[in-house]
This record gives sequence, structure tokens and C-alpha cells, in this order.
Amino acid sequence: MTVRVSELVQYQICPRLVYFGARNHELQSQTAVKLRSRIEGFILKEFAFNLHRIINCEADIPDVMSDILDSLPLIYREELTDQIDLEPLRENFQRIINDKWLKKLQSTRELELELVHGYERERVLYSDKLNLSGSVDKLIIADEEEIPCIIKTGKSPEYGVWRSDRLQLAAYAMLIEDEFRRTVRRGLVQYIRDAEFREVQIRRADRAMVLQVLKRVKRVKRGVFPDRSRNAPCESCTYADICNTRKTFLSVLFGQK
Ligand code: SF4
Repeated sequence: MTVRVSELVQYQICPRLVYFGARNHELQSQTAVKLRSRIEGFILKEFAFNLHRIINCEADIPDVMSDILDSLPLIYREELTDQIDLEPLRENFQRIINDKWLKKLQSTRELELELVHGYERERVLYSDKLNLSGSVDKLIIADEEEIPCIIKTGKSPEYGVWRSDRLQLAAYAMLIEDEFRRTVRRGLVQYIRDAEFREVQIRRADRAMVLQVLKRVKRVKRGVFPDRSRNAPCESCTYADICNTRKTFLSVLFGQK
């Protein structure tokens, strides 16, 4: 059984997301609000793939935005099946991607590696040994060093990186090590919305956490129905209906309220 890195991350958010995802349970139809926030995420991600153009003054922000809006339906063909007018989003983005954002970006030391060495976009990685696969947003190869880099479109933490981001980076590090036969010592998280880029040292404890979560994900994918996590984001969850039905069924079975 192969596990995807994205399933490790989902498990951290709520183990039941892995359970329902593995069973191809039907998702609730996407509300307009959810769809819009997904599209905003795609646009932010594309900005992260265009940083060299912005920093090197090959294009200004409005030009990059126009390019992104043109190419979005082609790049995200599977996700954007319906014809959607993306133009109204342009104005919204001026609140996020603006001069203040650019100034912060220009003073970001962690961007240097990418600007000097470039990166491979969405490199697909697979390990037979771990039965794990994934596609890392950016793979920077700097001299004798491979550096995984992930793009996050949500808010950045005050310090360091979110726990699930650390896990995700460590999982990519282990996949890279299996393929390149070299130890990965660090990774990068690009919180693109805030122009906050953070370097992360890949520690032994991170690798151990990957192996532990990997085992748990496999158990869930084999059919064990897990408990929800303490901070499960049920209000915005696409499985809310089916999850509640399932809970009711089990409650009846065990005579619980
Ligand atoms: S509804 Fe809540 S508990 Fe159920 S899968 Fe979604 S986040 Fe997890």
C-alpha cells in the first residue's frame, strides 16, 4: 500500500480525512466560498512559482497576475472544470500582493538559494522502501545539496513553521534521500501570503514522526475508523455529512448518545 505525503499531512489535521479520502467517499458539493478560496490558493501558489520574475524585475506584479489568470484554467484543468470568471479576483489580490509584500520579499534572505540555483517544479518522488510518494513544490539543487521547499498559502505562525509543515518537509527529505542517496539537512517553507520564508532543519525527531504517522495512516487506509483530532476543522470539512452519519451509526451500535 502506497501512502502519499499529503495523507500524512491530512492525518495531522484529522485522521478521519484519510479514512474518507481512501474510501472515495463523495464530497459535499463545493460551495462558492470554498471554491473561491481554493482558487485564491492556486493563484498564490502560482505567485510562488514566479518569484524570480518579480525579484529580477522581468515583470511587475500586475503583469504576473495577468499571466497567472490566463494560465490558471490550463494548469489546474482537473480542479477548474467549470468556466469561472477569474477577473474579479484581480482586485482582491491587490490587498495581499502589493508593494509592502514586494518589499518584504526583496529583503528575504531565504530566497537567495532559489534565485541562484533555480528549482524543479513539483518533482514527483517515490520510495519503495517506505511505500511513500509525493510531489514536492520546489526542489532546489544547490551544488551538492538537495533542498525541498513547500509553498503554503495560509497564514504563517509567529515563529518557526506549523507542525504539519515540519512533518511534510521531513517526509519529502526522506523521499529525496532515498532517490539521491544523500542526507537532506534542511528544507524551506514559503508562506507566500505573508512573504514569510522559513528555513527548517530536518531533525531525527522529524524523521521518527514521519515513520510513526506513516504506520498510523496505513492502519486507517486498511479500514480502521479513527477518532477525530481534538482540533478537527469540522465546520469547513467536505466530509461533514458522511462523518456525522458514521458517528450516529456507531453511537447506535454501542448504545451511546
Ligand atoms: S467532519 Fe470533522 S471529524 Fe469528520 S472528517 Fe471532517 S474534520 Fe474530521
